[in-house]
Amino acid sequence: MKKTLIVLAFSLLASNATAAAKLKVVTTTSDIAAIMREVGGERIGVTSIARGYQDPHFVEPKPSFLLLLRDADLLAVIGLDLEIGWLPPLLDQSRNNSIRRGSAGYLDLSQGVEILDRPKGSVDRSMGDVHPLGNPHYWLDPANAVRMAIQIEKKLSELRPSDATYFRERLNAFKLKMSDADKRWRAALAPFRGAKIVTYHNSWPNFVRRYGLDVVGYVEPKPGVPPSPAHIFSLINTMKEQKVKLILMEPYFDSKTPQSIADRTGAQLVVIYPSVGGAKSGSDDYFALFDMNVGNIVKALR
Ligand SMILES: [Zn+2]
Repeated sequence: MKKTLIVLAFSLLASNATAAAKLKVVTTTSDIAAIMREVGGERIGVTSIARGYQDPHFVEPKPSFLLLLRDADLLAVIGLDLEIGWLPPLLDQSRNNSIRRGSAGYLDLSQGVEILDRPKGSVDRSMGDVHPLGNPHYWLDPANAVRMAIQIEKKLSELRPSDATYFRERLNAFKLKMSDADKRWRAALAPFRGAKIVTYHNSWPNFVRRYGLDVVGYVEPKPGVPPSPAHIFSLINTMKEQKVKLILMEPYFDSKTPQSIADRTGAQLVVIYPSVGGAKSGSDDYFALFDMNVGNIVKALR
């Protein structure tokens, strides 16, 4: 009996020690968190600030986020000013110098991926564009997801050299799984190569380029700017001329305007999910998210 108790106490101590040793990682978005889990496995603890069903440009700050940031060993962000509207004040108030920009505990994933829509010339926000430094929705291309995982592996190994082999093995497994999944998604979308679509927000340039869809317009006149009557009129004309049959909408927008555009053009309005955890079920990791989105696009275009 006594021996059992000692063993039990010892194993509790040991599990506490393991728990304490876990790197505390905070990510701004659920997609980074998902890729972080793929690489970090059970050696890290990950929490995302934004939930998958929220517009990552506009996240309401909460006091609980301050506590998360205060205790974090690593903060990983999308960058390109995606989080500019909400992260800087939280980071200031958290008073955690080890996760500030430029510190070892800060990882800006936009540094090592392919960025589309880079602005030519000077940045001008007078039109309210929320993509001033290029398109920040770059995670929606499996090649970029792998590039994010590579940066994550490097950073985790730097912070926890003793777990470097573990992280490297998990990165390699992720790459293999992604390569298979990408073939599956490519094959599913191949029959619809060149299909003309409209999206609500400009969230999908990396995705459509990889899988060969053609975005001919957006419900928003500019990213982050609500649709005006003049813009809707011109979009409807474009859609009729180009025989667009599909409007894709992110889950956090109001469907009223895109639905009326769909009704007037004979197009179908389909909600697709730019982030892990965005749907009530079936979007729990990167692979599930893409399986669901690709499946819904195929169903709509068929
Ligand atoms: Zn955006």
